[in-house]
Amino acid sequence: MNQFSIAIHGGAGTILPSLMTTEKEALYKKGLKEALQKGAKILAQGGSSMDAVEAAVMSLEDFPLFNAGKGAVFTNKGTHEMDAAIMDGNTLEAGAVSGISNIKNPVSLARTIMLKSGHVFLAGKDAEAFGKLNGLNLEDDKYFYTEERYKQWQELVNTENYQLDHKAGSIHTEKKFGTVGAVALDMKGNLAAATSTGGMTNKRFGRIGDTPVIGSGTYANNQTCAISCTGHGEFFLRAVVAYDISCLIEYKGLSLEEACRIVVMEKLVKLGGEGGLIAIDKTGNISLPFNSEGMYRASMKSGGEEYIAIYK
Ligand code: ASP
Repeated sequence: MNQFSIAIHGGAGTILPSLMTTEKEALYKKGLKEALQKGAKILAQGGSSMDAVEAAVMSLEDFPLFNAGKGAVFTNKGTHEMDAAIMDGNTLEAGAVSGISNIKNPVSLARTIMLKSGHVFLAGKDAEAFGKLNGLNLEDDKYFYTEERYKQWQELVNTENYQLDHKAGSIHTEKKFGTVGAVALDMKGNLAAATSTGGMTNKRFGRIGDTPVIGSGTYANNQTCAISCTGHGEFFLRAVVAYDISCLIEYKGLSLEEACRIVVMEKLVKLGGEGGLIAIDKTGNISLPFNSEGMYRASMKSGGEEYIAIYK
């Protein structure tokens, strides 16, 4: 197998051309393009899908418009509590982290947890301490601050409401930044998936969504597919979205396209769950379904063109 595939996302939601400026659209596309190219370069040189998804997600975390790493949304307390996960489809090893602050790239902490902790899922201050112990890059609170996120939070701070980053009805609906993720198939036939998020604006009580939950927001298995989700986490958790798609392929023999359609366009819609996902199967097919107005997304296959899109 001398072919690779990669897909990335920067969040799904009420993303409409009427709410976007040309400059903003160009910036989003730049962020997506840079991340796609970082991942694709690793794959083209024969690198692993794990390295490719980590590099692509780090690039999206460093880009302030997306709700992950720098630019993560504010909690009700005015902090940033981030979640991330990564999974290796070859070994079925996985690492995940939730509710962490001050780690520059949460996806790298998730991978370090996978490789060095003997566990799968760590949370909060002690997970941060594990990151420090293992030499992860740290940043102070200021690094994660962006003015637009702060304004978005100010709309909600004195209420009990919390909000998906890209939900309509906010005075800041034109600012739809999202969770980020990447999936890849490398030239050795290994699949990998990674996802990273700041979660929901004004979230309280240690709320955690689907992103770091293996099988819900993130999953990879060389026998089936690699998936990274974005959308209203509570629904993605209840629908166990990523693993459900893998199961439809494994046990029912469905194609990636059909499995994704059933879960995103039928099952999630029935539950009321808005969002989408990126998926690659073991032969390199790519599917990018979403039931919302838009999803920041990009993909590429070896020898093919870059695909970058935002709207339906
Ligand atoms: N799924 C994420 C969460 O619920 C949010 C998102 O995708 O924007 O935390």
